[in-house]
Amino acid sequence: MQPAPWLVSAADIDWQADGAPVSRQFGDVYFSRDNGLAESRHVFLAGNALEQRLAQLASRQCFVIAETGFGTGLNLLALWQLWQRVRPDNQSRLHFVSVERFPLTRADLATALQLWPELAALSTQLLAQYPPLLPGVHRLIFEQERLTVDLWWGDAALCLQQMPTVQPVDAWFLDGFAPACNADLWQETVLQPIARLSGPKTTLASFSVAGVVKRGLRAVGATVQRTPGYGRKREMLRAHWSGVTDPVDPPTLLALIDTATRPVAVIGCGIAGLSLAWALSRRGYAVDLYDEAPLSGASGNPRALLVPKLTPLAHVATHLHTTGWLSALRWWQQLCPQAVEKYGAQLLQADDRLADYPAEILQPLLIDPTDTSFHSDTKMATIGELSNMATQPDCFLPNGAMLIPERIADAILNRSQVRLLGMSISHVKQFDGGWRLSHDQGNTDYDQVILANALQAKQLFPALPALTPIRGQISACASDWQPPHILSYGGYCAPLTTPGNSMILLGASFTRHCSDQTVTLADHQHNLELLAAVAPEQARQLPPVDSWIGRASIRAQTRDYLPLCGEIKPGLWVLAGLGSKGFAFAPVCAEMLVSTLLGEPLPLPAVLVSRLRPQRLMT
Ligand code: SAM
Repeated sequence: MQPAPWLVSAADIDWQADGAPVSRQFGDVYFSRDNGLAESRHVFLAGNALEQRLAQLASRQCFVIAETGFGTGLNLLALWQLWQRVRPDNQSRLHFVSVERFPLTRADLATALQLWPELAALSTQLLAQYPPLLPGVHRLIFEQERLTVDLWWGDAALCLQQMPTVQPVDAWFLDGFAPACNADLWQETVLQPIARLSGPKTTLASFSVAGVVKRGLRAVGATVQRTPGYGRKREMLRAHWSGVTDPVDPPTLLALIDTATRPVAVIGCGIAGLSLAWALSRRGYAVDLYDEAPLSGASGNPRALLVPKLTPLAHVATHLHTTGWLSALRWWQQLCPQAVEKYGAQLLQADDRLADYPAEILQPLLIDPTDTSFHSDTKMATIGELSNMATQPDCFLPNGAMLIPERIADAILNRSQVRLLGMSISHVKQFDGGWRLSHDQGNTDYDQVILANALQAKQLFPALPALTPIRGQISACASDWQPPHILSYGGYCAPLTTPGNSMILLGASFTRHCSDQTVTLADHQHNLELLAAVAPEQARQLPPVDSWIGRASIRAQTRDYLPLCGEIKPGLWVLAGLGSKGFAFAPVCAEMLVSTLLGEPLPLPAVLVSRLRPQRLMT
């Protein structure tokens, strides 16, 4: 059977005279202008007894709510407001997951949410992180709020089917337009995975009491009850699964949630280890990071490129590079905005299969093929204009960025829960009570250990799949010419502004099976030639390569170019083999690993999660 396609299209909104949005696709209202917020509170919040349940959360407990039909996010904002009012003063967290096949554009969302002035502060925060209309999972992290929001853009049946089974969802908001206008959202293909993701303590609420909904829920094992509806609506629906005899697997680390006495050990302080430290510490867990110094390996360049190699839109939901890039941008901008230099990137001679990307992500650039000067003053073309052009167009990626790794490291290492122990680990050994790490000052024992030290991970745990060393050298030189944005052409060229210096950064060589970290003229020459192939004029004006500076480092690469991310033995985990895409892969993979470890919803579809399991390459 053909896998179902990940499809997303923008909601087509008809604005009523009173400002209320109506869906043209479905001919139904998103909410009532008079009482939408009150109805949301009655049906979904009270219908799941959330005021009482949220107020009772234990420290480090993560309460999971999932919704069908994100729409304008009104339910989320009503919930968020309740959360602010009743959340206990401990380290409990709220995790909200919603699926949506027709997301509103950011502009429409802003218009719709203007109707609720009392939610304005929350709307602003939501809009600041609202993801582009690309299929797949978009995790928004509101750290100060102890709130995580996963927006799954795609058809509900596919998204729910792809939602990995972890701890049961605590409460469901079964929203969606009325079954008469929107039959798809209430079918068995949606209700079955809802039942799979539910357990004995799960509750569900819906505004709809249609027969098809009641029968459908009963057919998947729910006990259904009609209770008074809001306002003029006589009834609403509540359901639960206490009859479920086979709840989903218990979380791996419930014990850690209860006690949390011992820190988690992370070996390696490159971008993988730092991302793990951030994911654990923001959930209130202490982290011991082992490395001689932060960023001493391949993550230690002065700048890191945050520009993905895009895939055709049909594959983007399961494309780790794009998902990882979007996550890295969103999360690091929150954590440390001064670490992200957002120049935008010009993708030279981009693949024409990328034409259907939304303009927020990718825009065609109009280039006059007869113009031999470099196109610094670029003009956006419409698709129509482009079809008349003779040459393959360049594209512009407004969110292309350079990252300053040192600033990310500082932000993470300054957190009170993160401790950098300046020593390397020589052995990792299992013993009865967990894992023993040996270092030059003796041994330290942990319940949970994560190997995040690239090639050395295999030395510490030889059963890991093979990792190939790949040498990469970046080059920098003084240059009066500065590219107006990042240029990406296989290699890349970016401004490198340091106080009093006008330089450019050129990347990068890629030499397999080479562990030599000497900076060479040959690799400078290679980086120059990559630029010269696309911008000969500018390349010619650069100073001779023997005046250049550079840095060479070694990345670890798996056979299938995807990282190793997951548990290898109970309590022993790995995040390694990120190759040359570490800055895009590391944050989302770290988030996935830590979510798995704690039994929380995962930030990636199941098919991608299984592609990252280290066991896939272990014989
Ligand atoms: N919960 C929303 C809020 O707080 O604004 C209102 C949801 S609205 C009543 C129903 C939503 O379900 C719409 O945004 C619609 O696009 C979405 N939807 C309809 N069919 C869908 C499907 N097959 N998969 C995912 N979402 C769907």
